[in-house]
Amino acid sequence: MSEMLPYLVDELRLDVNALVVRWDAVPSAGHYGTPLTYAAYKSDNAVAVIKWLLSNGADPRCGDADAVADATGMAQASEHQGSLAVMMEWKGSNALKMLTNPVVVIGGSYVGVDVAQQLAANAQGRFRVLLIEKNSHFQHLFAFPRFAVATDGINTHKAFIPYKPGVFMNAPAGSGDVVQAAVIMATGTKLTSPSNMPGSEKLDGVEYLRKHAKKVMESKRLVFIGGGAVGVQLATDAKELYPEKSVTLVHSRPAVMNRYHPKLHQLIAERCSELGIDLVLGSRVKLPPEGYPIDGTGFDVEMLDGRHVICTGQTPQSDLVKSLSPDSIDPQSFIRVRKTLQIDDDEYPNVFALGDIAATAAHKAARPAAKQAEIVKNNIIHSIEGEPLEDYEVTDPAGIHLSLGITKNVIFRNPAPGSAEPVVMNKDDGTLDMGIDAVWDRRGGGPDALL
Ligand SMILES: Cc1cc2nc3c(=O)[nH]c(=O)nc-3n(C[C@H](O)[C@H](O)[C@H](O)COP(=O)(O)OP(=O)(O)OC[C@H]3O[C@@H](n4cnc5c(N)ncnc54)[C@H](O)[C@@H]3O)c2cc1C
Repeated sequence: MSEMLPYLVDELRLDVNALVVRWDAVPSAGHYGTPLTYAAYKSDNAVAVIKWLLSNGADPRCGDADAVADATGMAQASEHQGSLAVMMEWKGSNALKMLTNPVVVIGGSYVGVDVAQQLAANAQGRFRVLLIEKNSHFQHLFAFPRFAVATDGINTHKAFIPYKPGVFMNAPAGSGDVVQAAVIMATGTKLTSPSNMPGSEKLDGVEYLRKHAKKVMESKRLVFIGGGAVGVQLATDAKELYPEKSVTLVHSRPAVMNRYHPKLHQLIAERCSELGIDLVLGSRVKLPPEGYPIDGTGFDVEMLDGRHVICTGQTPQSDLVKSLSPDSIDPQSFIRVRKTLQIDDDEYPNVFALGDIAATAAHKAARPAAKQAEIVKNNIIHSIEGEPLEDYEVTDPAGIHLSLGITKNVIFRNPAPGSAEPVVMNKDDGTLDMGIDAVWDRRGGGPDALL
């Protein structure tokens, strides 16, 4: 035992709480158990094994898939008093703490789901993970611009993916306070339409995107305001799908996508000219005080000379932290974080933030946040184990995978340190539905797209 257990758990990273079936090892055929269950059943000489398992994350409450007995019940039934005493002592000191103090992740989009999954996979009985999300479904934002202009050949339902049944449950708003071991803020930003849905339910989102796409189809002239990624994608998609329509893209600065190397602007300007999109730069649009008509009647878009600013960007969703620790919120409403990704407040060492909501120096995208998720997961475990925390370093330059119409797209990365040239990979392999089936499958959407 002394060599095999550390080898299996430390070297091979076997989950000490995994349920295994050994038909001959337990009294009830078909009963599942963890290694601890089997140790508790086997003999009273297994105390050393049980102690080792407990100190390496085994949880005596796991392993009761058939409701026959958990590990302590098994020791009791087998009258192994030594094993039972060790586990009862463990329960007394740990069980309540772990049950009542889960690690809470707030925000179940790209980054929140990633960090919750990484934590769950590494919990090893030390804590539980609670993911709280206000939308009924995972919203695959990357597809929203396309689904907001295209109608035929798109299964809009698939942009709203159910969280895996059995793992996630509904909790009505305000259904209770949670005493937590740690809180992870992954609440992101609120975008402008059509990337922001009017409600939190799937059907509202599906209906909204379809109506939007129908309106685009029925309009003769289309004006997209804001030359960020969403504006560029919407304009290029619309013009390629409906070449007969007049399409204008208005941007307040001399270059679109101005956070990137100027070559990206050049590339987009060329693509606009190729498609016949009217690109208006350095101009701002005067928004009518009552908003634009949405009843299908025509209207003129009035240009200004640069005195007004229209907010087409993102609003950080940081209110929860603002009420707890106002000084941790920066002037743009993002959450200030330390290198460890803890919020910048000595009073709350157990509150972390990552993804779009966190004021890291990283580019706001799902991809760099995968590294942040790993650091937060490691640091939660380090905190529990009383070990020093790790620092997050921004290593990747800003990059984007941008569609420039239905099939054309580009992978663009700003120059890496020490280089003057960006990475540009022009591609022509896009599909109308943006590969939504693969995303649906990868995220475990299940057999019914309507759910
Ligand atoms: C059209 C488009 C295309 C994109 N394409 C790419 C791409 O190709 N690659 C890439 O890396 N990035 C891409 N991005 C950027 C990427 O979508 C964001 O960086 C990413 O969504 C950030 O993830 P997040 O989890 O931090 O925040 P968000 O995605 O903003 O999610 C925050 C979540 O928190 C929830 N929430 C907020 N407040 C609460 C609360 N109080 N209680 C419960 N839940 C709450 C929200 O409902 C939401 O689900 C794209 C963005 C857009 C708009």
